[in-house]
Amino acid sequence: MSEHYEALIVGAGFSGAVLAERLASQLGWRVLVVDKREHVGGNCFDECDEKGILVHRYGPHIFHTDHQQVVDYLSQFTAWRPYEHRVLASIDGQLVPLPFNLNSIDKLFTTSKARVLADALVENFGEGTRVPILKLRESSNPLLQELAGFVYDKVFLNYTTKQWGCRPEDISPEVTARVPVIVGRDDRYFADVFQAVPAEGYTKLFESILAHPKIDLRLKTDYADISKFNRETGEISLMGNTFKGVLIFTGMVDELFGFCHGELPYRSLRFDFQHHDQEFFQPTAVVNYPNEHTYTRITEFKHLSGQKNSGTSIVYEYPQPYDRQNPAANIPYYPVFDETGKKAYEHYEAALQGHAKVFAVGRLAQYRYLDMDDAVANALDVFASLSKFASKRRCL
Ligand code: FAD
Ligand code: UDP
Repeated sequence: MSEHYEALIVGAGFSGAVLAERLASQLGWRVLVVDKREHVGGNCFDECDEKGILVHRYGPHIFHTDHQQVVDYLSQFTAWRPYEHRVLASIDGQLVPLPFNLNSIDKLFTTSKARVLADALVENFGEGTRVPILKLRESSNPLLQELAGFVYDKVFLNYTTKQWGCRPEDISPEVTARVPVIVGRDDRYFADVFQAVPAEGYTKLFESILAHPKIDLRLKTDYADISKFNRETGEISLMGNTFKGVLIFTGMVDELFGFCHGELPYRSLRFDFQHHDQEFFQPTAVVNYPNEHTYTRITEFKHLSGQKNSGTSIVYEYPQPYDRQNPAANIPYYPVFDETGKKAYEHYEAALQGHAKVFAVGRLAQYRYLDMDDAVANALDVFASLSKFASKRRCL
């Protein structure tokens, strides 16, 4: 059977599913998709729990994008439920809007102090700007220094220490810049033009993307059990035979290369799901706890899906170190974006250059903080270069 496939895709998350669909529908390739989990969707997988509430098994996933091309592409496979994400953070005994903005200032400071802080922000950065906390801390204005110190201590320091095991300044600045201080009163967590969730959930969306007759799907299958990639010679085997097609790998790039340049650092999470016999548990889908508790945030799913039910399901998120050998911590949710992590990744990136038929794609394989829309846009870009590659080499 192996000789029938033009592409072997490891992983049925967004990166793998989109590429499988494009190769099958646009190039007519026969594609084999394998995933070691028992379901499609990667970390975006959702399912109904035993009380019938749609929950996200691997943490809250909210779709938001400025890429119209990604919306157009995905809209072939799903309808959407408009949803604008709002997050509250527990600070000094109050729930205040996050990203931290002028409304958060009003809640936490006296009226006169709030006014001078807001004026200083507007004067220095301009109405509507989004200022990363590490940039705000560099301000020479004493009022802004005071505000930056407050936000750094109450919002970022303890949350980041829990999430990443280090201080905010010890991870790549783009991580904390995802949640900037907003010089305005927009309480939404994201500013993107398009914000919605798939009307019937992510899993249904993935099933629809993968429902092409030229795509074969094998779940509960680790790629290493059916395929081998020889990093010295570049040879790939599939089910014991030489495989002449393209390998698209969306798992951990260090695993693909047998950890020959060492293990890349990742962070993992533990999720604690609970059901409560009350209509709602909290006012918004997500409430962050930067300072109290060992968890970082609680998500209440009904806010996302709009489901009507007399009970409600929530999940607590506990960050933990990633440990490949420990089944309770062996999902690498986040690449760790410190200098060591980035340098180690460069070795694998260089190793990939020598293998024209091997494509490492996605959050783990490219060791990047890709949101879902970025993962889709990235997969569409990879498809564009792959089709050029295929048309040059008619043999594929
Ligand atoms: P993945 O979804 O990780 O898929 C990779 C797949 O490869 C997995 O199914 C895995 O089982 C499989 N695989 C790996 N190794 C092997 C192997 N050896 N053999 C077989 N199969 C293998 N993005 C947003 O836009 N909005 C959000 O709100 C959001 N929230 C998030 C919350 C959390 C807690 C996390 C961790 C991520 C969140 N994301 C969010 C990011 C989103 O999850 C990613 O953008 C998306 O999952 C990337 O897709 P991917 O296909 O690259 O990777
Ligand atoms: N962050 C924080 N406090 C918060 C929210 C976010 O310190 O209340 C920091 C933290 O370092 C986190 C990063 O900002 O990892 C990005 O937050 P985001 O909500 O985007 O994280 P994700 O949803 O990707 O886990």
